Amino acid sequence: MPLLAIESSCDETAVAIYGKSSSSDNNGLLASLISSQIELHKDLGGVVPELASRNHTQRISPLVAEALEKAGLGAQEIDAFAATGGPGLASSLTVGHSFAKGLALAAKKPFLSVNHMEGHLLSPFVGEEQIPPHLALIVSGGHTLLIRVRLVGDYQLLGQTLDDAAGEAFDKVAKMLELPYPGGPEIEKLAKTGDPTAFDFPRSMLNENNLDFSFSGLKTSVLYTLKKLPNPRERLPDLCASFQAAVFEVLIAKALRAARREKLSLVTLSGGVSCNATLREQLSAACHEEGLTFRSSPPSLSTDNAAMIAFAAYHRLRAGQTSSLSTDIDPNLKLA
Ligand code: ATP
Ligand code: FE
Ligand code: MG
Repeated sequence: MPLLAIESSCDETAVAIYGKSSSSDNNGLLASLISSQIELHKDLGGVVPELASRNHTQRISPLVAEALEKAGLGAQEIDAFAATGGPGLASSLTVGHSFAKGLALAAKKPFLSVNHMEGHLLSPFVGEEQIPPHLALIVSGGHTLLIRVRLVGDYQLLGQTLDDAAGEAFDKVAKMLELPYPGGPEIEKLAKTGDPTAFDFPRSMLNENNLDFSFSGLKTSVLYTLKKLPNPRERLPDLCASFQAAVFEVLIAKALRAARREKLSLVTLSGGVSCNATLREQLSAACHEEGLTFRSSPPSLSTDNAAMIAFAAYHRLRAGQTSSLSTDIDPNLKLA
């Protein structure tokens, strides 16, 4: 039962075809294409919504055609069409969402509107038939979430950021350090040769007895430190390593606290920040020390992609759920 999904919530146009039964290799992914707009927005310092949506409009048709060709399927062989319905930029979401509805209408097949964060949440399991109960830490450009997952669709929000998301903090600090956009990978690269104890940045809310996060104070602290340094450019590796260490210490401590409190033995990590090898290694080690099992989304499925949307849609469809063709996008769609 091949299913085609479109992701266009921000600055990546992505199309994937997922069909577990027809292919056992590549985790059931018959195609997964991503057309990134990073080059387009790079010199503008961030995503410009108007440019992003026009670019999605240009790229969506050829990308769908290419995905079908890659999978060796005609549109009439696809059994359901899905798209990200939110959260994200309204004008970007609309392009992929409308396109998938049009395909579903033409083919007389079901349509599924998928929550982008559910895509991230389920990405560590792509290719699998069962989603076990677990504690999920999602760290992306717009969200920092701790979620208790009972089964597909049964999500309980345990904690979240009260201000900046973890990925947003990476991007803002990278901008202060005059590193190219997007900042996360640049900070990781520099941090590799830096000393994570060189600067003692704040671990906000670490000792508060809740599961929430705050990263805006850390960002300000980096800014003040930077202003006081005579030659900040010489200290970039130390600044990056120390900043990263502050973010990760809080993420790891709260994820473990949540798992303990909820008596969950499986911890997962997903979202763009989970591309960071240091975070994956440190959280993995911390879990093993506590006798917990750890799983991360593979780096290729950590930043935005359509494979995770197709996979979430597959599980929704299996549970008998579909969306009406009048379903609208929701830029502020909530997961739980
Ligand atoms: P959301 O999913 O919340 O709507 P988004 O889709 O923009 O936001 P993702 O695509 O999941 O977010 O992730 C992008 C974020 O991941 C950016 O903030 C980016 O800086 C960060 N990121 C990517 N790679 C790394 C890395 N190696 N280290 C740290 N952060 C990273
Ligand atoms: Fe995302
Ligand atoms: Mg993105």
